[in-house]
Amino acid sequence: MEINTHRFENVIPALIATFEFMKRCGLRGVQCSEKTLQILESWNFETIPVKTISLDDIRADLGNCQRCKLWKKRTHLVFGEGNPTARLVFVGEGPGYEEDQKGKPFVGAAGKLLTKIIAAMGLDRQDVYICNIIKCRPPKNRNPEPDEINACLPFLKRQLAAIQPEYICTLGSVATKVVLQTDEPVSRLRGKFFKYKKINVMPTYHPAFLLYNPERKRDVWEDIQKLMKAMEK
Ligand code: SF4
Repeated sequence: MEINTHRFENVIPALIATFEFMKRCGLRGVQCSEKTLQILESWNFETIPVKTISLDDIRADLGNCQRCKLWKKRTHLVFGEGNPTARLVFVGEGPGYEEDQKGKPFVGAAGKLLTKIIAAMGLDRQDVYICNIIKCRPPKNRNPEPDEINACLPFLKRQLAAIQPEYICTLGSVATKVVLQTDEPVSRLRGKFFKYKKINVMPTYHPAFLLYNPERKRDVWEDIQKLMKAMEK
């Protein structure tokens, strides 16, 4: 049976939302035949175009998220902000104190540095999209734990699927490892392009790292210049 693509694109988000709701209700699975299971497994949901999902829809699905333990101490969930059709998305690790207070990404000291980097590219924060791997602040700014990343990552993936950027700049080790699914340190990966699906990924150091290691600013500027050159094409 041929499936109408437009209807298909609308059905997938509804299915995902339904399964998430069932999971929250404590249901562990649904009955389906072996054949149906094989068909479902042959579909790669992450490559199905879901441009019809808006960032507002994804934010609404997150709601007052309690999918991992980080909700307990957050002041605000930090979803992300910027251009919903940006060519470039910056992905950091997670909100810090200032971000948690204001509900906005990269607004503390490291955020001010990121804003300067964006300005040095000849862009404005509103030209790009800025978000994080996890959306709630870990206590004392510790690294996010695997269960927290696993709980939150589907929403970042959906944000990227909705925005469909051409470029991602991962900021720091955690974001780089998660987006590229690698254990290599960012110091080895920075300055080179990789792929997340069809999107070009440039890893570089996190601005917070630069605050304590200003001698690394030169490296970041080199990475950003490579990114700018690629984006000119
Ligand atoms: S970090 Fe992500 S998964 Fe965990 S509570 Fe916050 S929004 Fe939900």
